[in-house]
Amino acid sequence: MLGSAPQSETARLAALLDGPRLERDFAAFAEIGRSAAGGYDRIAYSPADREARNWLILEMRAVGLDVREDAVGNIIGRREGSEAGCKAIAIGSHTDSVPSGGNYDGVLGVLGGLACLRTLHDRHVQLRHPVELIDFAAEEATMPGGTVGSRAMAGLLPPELLDAKAFDGQTLAEHMRAFGLDPAQWRRARRQAKDFSAYLELHIEQGGVLEAEGIPVGVVAGIVGIRRYAVTFHGIANHAGTTPMAARKDALVFAAPFIGEVQRIAIAHGIVGTIGTLQIFPAAPSVIPGQVRLDVEIRAISETLLDGAEAELRSVAERSGATFTAVSDKHPVRSAPGIMHHMTKVCAELGIVQKTMPSGAGHDAMCIATLAPQGMIFVPSRAGISHAPEEFTEPEQCVAGARVLLGTLLEVDATFA
Ligand SMILES: [Zn+2]
Repeated sequence: MLGSAPQSETARLAALLDGPRLERDFAAFAEIGRSAAGGYDRIAYSPADREARNWLILEMRAVGLDVREDAVGNIIGRREGSEAGCKAIAIGSHTDSVPSGGNYDGVLGVLGGLACLRTLHDRHVQLRHPVELIDFAAEEATMPGGTVGSRAMAGLLPPELLDAKAFDGQTLAEHMRAFGLDPAQWRRARRQAKDFSAYLELHIEQGGVLEAEGIPVGVVAGIVGIRRYAVTFHGIANHAGTTPMAARKDALVFAAPFIGEVQRIAIAHGIVGTIGTLQIFPAAPSVIPGQVRLDVEIRAISETLLDGAEAELRSVAERSGATFTAVSDKHPVRSAPGIMHHMTKVCAELGIVQKTMPSGAGHDAMCIATLAPQGMIFVPSRAGISHAPEEFTEPEQCVAGARVLLGTLLEVDATFA
């Protein structure tokens, strides 16, 4: 994967990142939280999550980091910089998993970041900026809404979330207490924009685009915005035996063409669109549907594309007499052009083919983006599978991603205030 002689000091150092050691770290980490059903149960705030964090704390200390756990359980390992007044460059991701999840989602970003810091430690490289390696707490939605650690750090956590129910019916606060944290102290995890100059995250793609195109690295242009709509089609419920076909007002018949239209409109606008729920009322075999309610979700990196698709969806729905209501609107989070530029340049210097692509899933980066310019690196997911025991990324692809992460860290350190 490496080209001929790397030209720059950045490329030379990035190429020195210890690939076999990163593989061994993955193997060691794979011993923690194995589930009986195959895969991993490193569920946030569980004993396996604690075991994983304890392992990480030791590894962080071994590469000279000053390690602390904050009020919500984020693990933060810090290395000081040489220049007074420089804000920290943060590298982060998460090591918690969904039930029966894989060993790569989130883990790659943390172990890859560790490999970067080990390279700096072993090679006695002094950076201008402090570097913080962060293992964010509770990124997966096993805890209410997910990204608990990064939201708390960015001041985006609604206080009522502490009493919201996790996947198992217990509240977030109860889980935190069982983990040895005091939920009342959660505001202490808050950090400020003055703390960070940049945030970098390496992550598996969790989709099949890179693999299908045979490209080892994705430079993430941003995290998609997500808009959700409730659409209700109105008919008249009536007897399924005595109402002649010509006299019916069947809400499901009104809804049916709309389902195909969501597909057509998404493709036409180059976005993704999904109907994930469909409810028929009154829902009886002998009753003509009087009402159909469905939820449409669209995702794209561009607000303009979302606006265009939304307008078309609304007009198609309203033409068939449906009520079209916006339910939620999460804005896209763009990556910092300066960071993307460094990632692209580092890939070129390392002889690694890359493509610019959006992230269709949410990540800690979208929360930390409110504190600092952010950039993400993707590596391929075999068969596009994630959140499952089959989740896998080739070792050399993990190493390539970690080298791009290290090269980007060096470039950001050299050029950012
Ligand atoms: Zn993840």
